[in-house]
Amino acid sequence: MDGRCLVCGENPGWLYVLGAYGPRNLRDEVCPWCIADGSAASTHEVRFTEIVDAPDAIPEAVIRELEERTPGFSGWQQERWLFHCDDAAAFVGPAGWEDLEDHPDALGALRVQIAGWGMDADETEMLVGSLDVDGSATAYLFRCLHCGTHLAYADLE
Ligand SMILES: [Zn+2]
Ligand SMILES: [Zn+2]
Repeated sequence: MDGRCLVCGENPGWLYVLGAYGPRNLRDEVCPWCIADGSAASTHEVRFTEIVDAPDAIPEAVIRELEERTPGFSGWQQERWLFHCDDAAAFVGPAGWEDLEDHPDALGALRVQIAGWGMDADETEMLVGSLDVDGSATAYLFRCLHCGTHLAYADLE
C-alpha cells in the first residue's frame, strides 16, 4: 500500500495493515522494515503480536523477537503463536483442508485440538474437512525452523 511510514518517513510500497497492541495501533502507518528492525516497536512502545502461552523452554529473546519485530497475523479469535524444538515456528499462513492434506503432523494436532472441544470422532472429521481459509472455521499453519515439522491450530468465527 502507498503511504509514508510513520517511523522512517519512507514510502516503500508496503505498510502493515493490522493493528498493534499498545498506546497507538499503527494500522496502515508503519513499514515491514521498521517492524523487522525493532524501531516501530521501540518508538511507539507497541507489540505486533501477543504471546500468552509460550512453553517455559522458549528464551525471552525469542518472545521479544515475536512481539516486537515480527508482523502478526489475523485470526478469528485471539491469535496464538506455535513453538517447536524450543523455538518459535514460522507462520506459513491461514489454511484450509486442501492446504493441510499433505501435513499429517499438523492434521494430528488439529484433531486433538478439535476433539478437546467436546466433539466425537465423526464431528471432528467433519470440522477438519470443512476448514477453509475463507470459511467460518480456519486453521493456521506453522513450520518448525529446525526439524520442518508442520504445526497448526484452528479457530472459529
Ligand atoms: Zn519504516
Ligand atoms: Zn521442530
